[in-house]
Amino acid sequence: MKREKIKTLLLSEGTDREVLVKGWVRTKRGGKNIVFIALNDGSTIKNIQVVADVSGFDEALMKEITTGACIAVRGLLAGSEGRGQDVEIRAESIELYGKSDPETYPLQKKGHTMEFLREIAHLRPRTNTFGAVFRIRHALAYAIHKYFNDKGFCYLHTPIITSSDAEGAGEMFQVTTLDLGNVPRKEDGSVDFSRDFFGKATNLTVSGQLEGELGALAIGEIYTFGPTFRAENSNTPRHLAEFWMIEPEMAFYDLDDNMDLAEDFVKYLIRYALENCSDDLDFLNKMINRDLLERLDFVINNDFIRTTYTRAVEILAASGRKWIYETGWGKDLQAEHERYLVEEYFKCPVILTDYPKVIKAFYMKHNEDGKTVKAMDVLFPGIGEIIGGSQREEDYEKLRTRIQELDLPEKDLWWYLETRKFGTAPHSGFGLGFERFVQFVTGMANIRDVIPFPRTPKNAEF
Ligand code: ATP
Ligand code: MN
Repeated sequence: MKREKIKTLLLSEGTDREVLVKGWVRTKRGGKNIVFIALNDGSTIKNIQVVADVSGFDEALMKEITTGACIAVRGLLAGSEGRGQDVEIRAESIELYGKSDPETYPLQKKGHTMEFLREIAHLRPRTNTFGAVFRIRHALAYAIHKYFNDKGFCYLHTPIITSSDAEGAGEMFQVTTLDLGNVPRKEDGSVDFSRDFFGKATNLTVSGQLEGELGALAIGEIYTFGPTFRAENSNTPRHLAEFWMIEPEMAFYDLDDNMDLAEDFVKYLIRYALENCSDDLDFLNKMINRDLLERLDFVINNDFIRTTYTRAVEILAASGRKWIYETGWGKDLQAEHERYLVEEYFKCPVILTDYPKVIKAFYMKHNEDGKTVKAMDVLFPGIGEIIGGSQREEDYEKLRTRIQELDLPEKDLWWYLETRKFGTAPHSGFGLGFERFVQFVTGMANIRDVIPFPRTPKNAEF
């Protein structure tokens, strides 16, 4: 007999048929004669109720069916008289795959803190909350590919190991096979990376953008979706050392086209989640964040506000607020500023454009004013920056001048510069931090709780 998933079983029409389900016991209650087992197999947040007539089963087996145990149940799918479910399974046979010692199983009772659950990340997917979050995460990942595929974008796999520190981000994880106890050195005492695996110093990528641009200038519209790494010591609810990023890059798009795409894209993803993850979202709305569904609806039903960085700085100055971080033209905006703009001033997602060149990366296209660049940041309630993007500088001389001004390693960027020498084209792109977006859609307060196994400073367990 073939196992059915609880999700399909609950959606199927008709009862009075023989079924086989397999899953983990959430609760067992009942008495001497009859027991009720709530069984969950992860396919849905819903449990199926299994009803067992104690007289028909071995007593020792019944004892071992405790919270956390894994069982297979064969029986009759029948309409349920009890409240809370339409159908139940009247068990005919039960096989115990794995027992779970009630004395030591950590997920006995409800209401564990998120901090505690992080310490048992190997078991937390078995909770309602994390089951919901990871199913939504999956649905969003699928929707990302669907969105771009339907639009004719090509999924380009950019490298995870790179030798360019082009972003100037600095805070990268080094990749090496050198013996750290006996590092080969050059005469001047510096590390001799010519003896390393790749013959040069390499790192884990902070972004696939530069390689993405190479793809856009050949295939037209591409996107990347992969892991990125930042060795920054940021202990915030919005930063991970390993996170996933979606980076579309498009030839012949100017900054307006770029903003249109970003807005359409995130609205599509939210709509997809609302249409396909309603059980999980309803649960999170009830248990995690009472405003969740309202906030999601708000984002899909309103045009994002588009305004300039300069105007934002004026608004912040006129706010009369005391900020932890100073504001002023030329200073980067911090989350507190971004959230003020979104949550209190505009009360709407905001796209800020035309940032000072001094706080943005070298590849952004300069405006005529000589001071600002064609950058765009999308700011979301509760999160702050969720997308960073720009129109890219396509002019060879201007780009080279900027690289020199910033003292970036021009020789490492020869391949990037060559695309501007041979058939350059106006183009744009952006990066969406996947976990920040999953945070927004699930309402989870901490980014560590939207990725199965978070990597943060001093933490790489599991
Ligand atoms: P922030 O100022 O919030 O640190 P950033 O300016 O460093 O962000 P970008 O380099 O523009 O961010 O990266 C693009 C997107 O990746 C951001 O908009 C954000 O959604 C996401 N992101 C950046 N850093 C992290 C991180 N450490 N953990 C998770 N997501 C991140
Ligand atoms: Mn950062």
